[in-house]
Amino acid sequence: MLEIGGRRVKMAEQEPGIRVRNFRSVPLGYTPEQAMIEAQRCVQCAHAPCERHCPVRMNLRQIIRRIACGDFRNAFLIAKQDNPIPAIAGLVCPQEEQCEGVCPLAGRGQGINIGKLEAFIAQWAMENKLKEEFHIEEKGQRVAVIGSGPAGISCTVDLRRHGYVVSVYEALHVAGGVLQYGIPAFRLPKDIVDYEISYLEEIGAAMKLNHIVGQNVTFDELRSEYAAIFIATGAGAPQFLGIEGECLKGVYSANEFLIRTNLMKAYRFPDYDTPIVCGSRVGVIGAGNVAMDVARCAVRLGARDVYILYRRTRRESPAREEEIQHGLEEGINFIELVNPVRILGRDDGWVRAVELVRMRLAEPDQSGRPRPVVIPGSEFTMELDTVVESLGTQPNRLFLDRIPQLKRTKWNTIEVDADLKTSIDGVYAGGDAIHGNATVILALGDGRKAAQSIHGYISTRPRQLHSDL
Ligand code: FAD
Ligand code: SF4
Repeated sequence: MLEIGGRRVKMAEQEPGIRVRNFRSVPLGYTPEQAMIEAQRCVQCAHAPCERHCPVRMNLRQIIRRIACGDFRNAFLIAKQDNPIPAIAGLVCPQEEQCEGVCPLAGRGQGINIGKLEAFIAQWAMENKLKEEFHIEEKGQRVAVIGSGPAGISCTVDLRRHGYVVSVYEALHVAGGVLQYGIPAFRLPKDIVDYEISYLEEIGAAMKLNHIVGQNVTFDELRSEYAAIFIATGAGAPQFLGIEGECLKGVYSANEFLIRTNLMKAYRFPDYDTPIVCGSRVGVIGAGNVAMDVARCAVRLGARDVYILYRRTRRESPAREEEIQHGLEEGINFIELVNPVRILGRDDGWVRAVELVRMRLAEPDQSGRPRPVVIPGSEFTMELDTVVESLGTQPNRLFLDRIPQLKRTKWNTIEVDADLKTSIDGVYAGGDAIHGNATVILALGDGRKAAQSIHGYISTRPRQLHSDL
């Protein structure tokens, strides 16, 4: 039965008891009829708060209007104009803080389900093999994009629209950045990622996979070959607590745990080469989206007890409410107000337990959230087989240290001006490389902005170097 009237059309999901045994998508998607009914709830506000709160200013009213009358084809083509990867954004954007959060219907928790509608039209386009077609007037000048995550993807698409010859340098053997190696398939199915990324080659971008800039091709080589460069290398270097026991076997960074699981398909070992050791009691330190992804992967890898260990409370957790809710349904335990002191090992070098101390909340810190303070003498020990640290990431120094003339901030991110220009002439940067951990949609927006800046830069300088293929 469809829920209609003033209420959101609920999307069917895999039952928790079933989904914890597979890595398939949790939401099952709207049917065309459900998508139309959901879209018909939109009142087409004159001031469109949803559009104003979309970081890439998608033409949401038009898209929703087309869906409402069953014109999925044009809804998809309109979405593609502003967002080259609508299915991905629809599934992972924090809509509750953006478009959906400001929808006048959101007050009763019934805001238009914009993300899922976006994902629906992209899925529909995939099933119906619909592609955006556009005429490219080739300019000949060459631009290099380093990194193929959302920032690199959107910059590449817009540069191709302007007619530049674009080469995308990607360190890994697949394109997509965090979309491939970080976000698990049960949240972001990989056939969707592959489909949306295959578009880059279709519009003529040269995908140079397995190319680590700074290792097997130097930055200076790129500078001499290309008229401009966009750095979209993300923030893939994990941070650690720096406590005793971090070198024990069974302690992972969230990045390693997720790369093994998602990119290297450890959950299908031995069909795939890379194993993962995930014991039956797993503790995840941190409570953001990444920590929730780790915890939910651990459940699917067969862990019996999975704990989120967080120094604040669930209310302050930076994870999306939907992720926390899904995690709780899957049996994850959320332990609030604890902080690890040290990790304890067995004689054979494997993790045995973590020592934690209890915390209380004091006045807000710089982030505006209550500051967690240690309760002296409250230490206790929790038996664990696996510990995963999910404390945020930084841009990779190995790459940045090789470009000393590239100015950085005190957080080790790349310094840029309002046009995303770096301290090096003709070199631009965006996405997590300039923000630290941020969001897919922010990275997409940066890619688009950088493409515009690069177009301005190349078109206003004499055309002499780098122009011939
Ligand atoms: P990335 O996606 O990190 O891509 C950078 C690419 O550059 C990588 O492919 C990397 O291999 C490549 N690279 C790095 N160095 C080099 C080099 N020297 N040479 C060549 N290539 C290089 N955001 C959301 O909006 N919603 C979510 O639900 C969400 N969940 C997340 C879950 C996880 C587990 C993680 C880790 C992040 C999540 N994020 C989420 C954040 C979001 O994925 C990132 O903000 C976004 O991917 C940043 O895009 P980017 O293009 O800047 O970098
Ligand atoms: Fe429709 Fe909500 Fe956007 Fe208004 S804010 S146009 S109701 S989606």
